[in-house]
Amino acid sequence: MIFSVTILGCSSAIPTPVRSLSAQVVNVHEKLYLIDCGEGTQMQLRKFNIKAQRINHIFISHLHGDHYYGLIGLLTSSHLLGRTNPLHIYAEAKLKDIINIQFSASDTHLGYPLNFHDIDPTVHEKIFEDEKVTVYTIPLKHRLLTTGFLFKEKAGERNIRKDFVEKEHIPYSEFSKIKAGGDYISDSGLVFKNRDITIDPPEPRSFAYCSDTAYFEPIIPKIKHVDLLYHEATFMDDKKDKASENFHSTTIEAATIAKKAEVKRLILGHYSTRYDDLQLLLKEARSVFPNTELGEDGKVFEIEL
Ligand SMILES: [Zn+2]
Ligand SMILES: [Zn+2]
Repeated sequence: MIFSVTILGCSSAIPTPVRSLSAQVVNVHEKLYLIDCGEGTQMQLRKFNIKAQRINHIFISHLHGDHYYGLIGLLTSSHLLGRTNPLHIYAEAKLKDIINIQFSASDTHLGYPLNFHDIDPTVHEKIFEDEKVTVYTIPLKHRLLTTGFLFKEKAGERNIRKDFVEKEHIPYSEFSKIKAGGDYISDSGLVFKNRDITIDPPEPRSFAYCSDTAYFEPIIPKIKHVDLLYHEATFMDDKKDKASENFHSTTIEAATIAKKAEVKRLILGHYSTRYDDLQLLLKEARSVFPNTELGEDGKVFEIEL
């Protein structure tokens, strides 16, 4: 069962010829969720062969333009391409007004329901769940109110031991009850305990998106032990003062958060346009947290079971 993150853009503020603006697609068991939607996101989706029509939920971290200016284009194109499925957007309440004023001015009437869900970026809470995943907000420290997002896979069903059910002739009709944790009682009244019939499901996986933010230790308990952390690293360590003035982070700060939160892997992103050679940023971050990788447009990060 897949759990992956595809980076669509990782430039901060302004796009470059090789780096688009913030957006990424989270794939949980083949359901796609979009986080942020910088200008050009619809083109990035096409470039990396991801069908926008498969995305039903969009999460917007904050209202700096580099994180949502691509939304109006994506919403409009989806309409022109004949979308009929409802689309849900999770963002600060103001976004609804911003989008509606553009639709009103252009006399656009979508052929699909667009549902806005207001989120409060100042609290850590559950904002979404379906049968596969739960999404929580992670309040960040930025010039505007900003939230990160934590995607937590739901625990799967228990795995049935084939050897055991064959040996004891447990009927198939009982499997769904057993997978859900139930014991099995045979016709003769013999009780088979669930712990003997099944083995634990794989550990649920998790991904945290933290952009944009200054160095902010209160996020550590919220992202503790996640499998994958995307943390912005707008600047290198020599621009630490500039990073803090602008409520952004450095490579070393992103890596320090990863280390303190004991995450499994760190992805860097949201790079300042001043950097052509990202290897320098990677080297710096790895000096603190070795299991760091560079976010780059089109890269897919899979979380193995
Ligand atoms: Zn940004
Ligand atoms: Zn920002």
